[in-house]
Amino acid sequence: MSLESYRCDMEGCSRCSSCKWIPLAQIRSQRWSQVCPSVWHNDFHAYSGSGKLNVALSILDGRSDFDESAADIFYACTMCGGCDVGCKVYRNDIDLTDTFHEARARAVELGFARLEHLQLVENMRAENNVFGLPRDERADWAADTSLLDANSEQVDILFHVGCRFSYDESQRDDLLAAVEILRTTGKRVGTSGTAEACCGQRAYECGFDSELHNFGDDMVNRVRTSGASMVAVACSDCFGAFNYLYPRNGKDLGVPVRHISEIAAELAADGSLVGAFSTPNATAAARPRVVTYHDPCHLGRRGEDYAGEFDGPKIDRPDNTRRDGRGGRYDAPRDVLKSLPGVTFVEMQRVREFSWCCGAGGGCAEGSESFSIAVATERLEEALSTGADTLATSCPWCVTNFTSAREQMRADGDHREIEIIGISELAARQISGEVPVTITTTATTCEEAAT
Ligand code: SF4
Ligand code: SF4
Repeated sequence: MSLESYRCDMEGCSRCSSCKWIPLAQIRSQRWSQVCPSVWHNDFHAYSGSGKLNVALSILDGRSDFDESAADIFYACTMCGGCDVGCKVYRNDIDLTDTFHEARARAVELGFARLEHLQLVENMRAENNVFGLPRDERADWAADTSLLDANSEQVDILFHVGCRFSYDESQRDDLLAAVEILRTTGKRVGTSGTAEACCGQRAYECGFDSELHNFGDDMVNRVRTSGASMVAVACSDCFGAFNYLYPRNGKDLGVPVRHISEIAAELAADGSLVGAFSTPNATAAARPRVVTYHDPCHLGRRGEDYAGEFDGPKIDRPDNTRRDGRGGRYDAPRDVLKSLPGVTFVEMQRVREFSWCCGAGGGCAEGSESFSIAVATERLEEALSTGADTLATSCPWCVTNFTSAREQMRADGDHREIEIIGISELAARQISGEVPVTITTTATTCEEAAT
C-alpha cells in the first residue's frame, strides 16, 4: 500500500469531528468524553484524526510539502485507533490508522524519522530486541522455570515472551505468574529461548515495514519448528502483531494466537485458575481491592482478528472487515478480574473499543516522552476518579507507562495511591493470599539496563 492508496479516505472525511470523542451514546460526562490523545494534548485540529487526513491530502494535492512540521503531526500520535473506531461507529468508515501508517512510512523514506525510532530499529537489527540489550540474555529470566526448549522439543503451546517481559526485571512477577497460568492448562509449554526475537510491531508502527516482515518470517519458522498448536502471548503489542499485522502482511503462523487473559479466563470459568496459585501454606485472606481495568489498544480495538481485504465500495464492506473495534478482547480480562477473591471491580467511563490509550504506543514512549506521560497521567486520573485502589491491565508496556506517570505525579507532589499491576500477577496475589515472588524496589527496568 502507499499513502496515495488512501486518497479516498482523505477525501471522504466530512470534517464531522466524531473522531475526537467517544460516541455520543457512550458519553457519561464531559470530563471523560475525549478519545484522541493527540488533539487533546496539542489542542489544535491538525493533530486530530481528521486533521491528519487533511494534512496528508494537502501533501498529495501539492498544497503543502511533506516537511518536518508535517512529520511532527504524524508522529504526535499514539496510533491508538480511537479515531478509527469513532469514525466507523458513525458509519463514515474511514481507515485512519492505516493512512497514518503510510504517512509515517513516507516520513521514513523522506528522512524525517525520529532519532529515537532509528535507534529502536538499530537495536532490533543488532540484538533482536527493541532495547539493544544482549540477545544472549533474552532467556535469562527463564533459568529456573523448566519450560521446554521449543527449538528442539515438540510443544503444544509456544509462549512468545516479547522484548519487555524478557528483559524488564520490574515485571518479572507478572511474567512468572503468566507461566504458571500456562502450566495449569496441562499442555506442553515451551519458548524459543534466546532464539526468540522481537515481533517487529513497534518498528512497524513507526513506519519501518521491513522489520515486521523480517521478524515475521523468523517467527513463522520458529512456530513450525516447535510443532505448537497455539501461540500464547502475555504482551498486547505481540498479540496485535500476530493476530492482525502478520496475517495482513502475509505472515501465516498457521496456529491460533491467544492472549494470557483469554487462557486465564477459561481456567477461571472451569475453576482451575485457583490451582495455579493456591499453596498448602496460603492462609492469608485475599487483600480487599477495588480494581479497575485499562484496555490495551492492541489487545482491544487494534488487535481484532484479520478478516481479509475488501476492495469494493466501502458502503458494501462486510462488518467483519470494517475493524470498528468490537472484535477486540475485552471480556476475558474482566472475567478474570471478577473471578478473583477480594476484588471489587469498577469500570472507567472510556472502556473497550472506546478506551483512552496508555500513551506508550506509536513510538511515543520512545520519541515523545512528555506527551506519552501526559496521556498516561490522564488515564491514571480517570482510574482514580472511580475510587479504585488498583489499576490492572494486560500489557507490560501499559504497566511501564502508567508506572512512569505515577512516578512523575509523585515527583510533582501528588501522592494519591493507586497500584498498577498486570492481571496475571494480580491473580497470583489474590489467589495465593501472598506475594508469590518478591518484588524489590531496585528491580532493573530494561531502560536502565540499556543505559
Ligand atoms: S469521524 Fe471520520 S469523517 Fe468525521 S472528521 Fe473524523 S475522520 Fe472525518
Ligand atoms: S490514532 Fe489515537 S492519537 Fe492518533 S489521531 Fe487517532 S485517536 Fe488520535
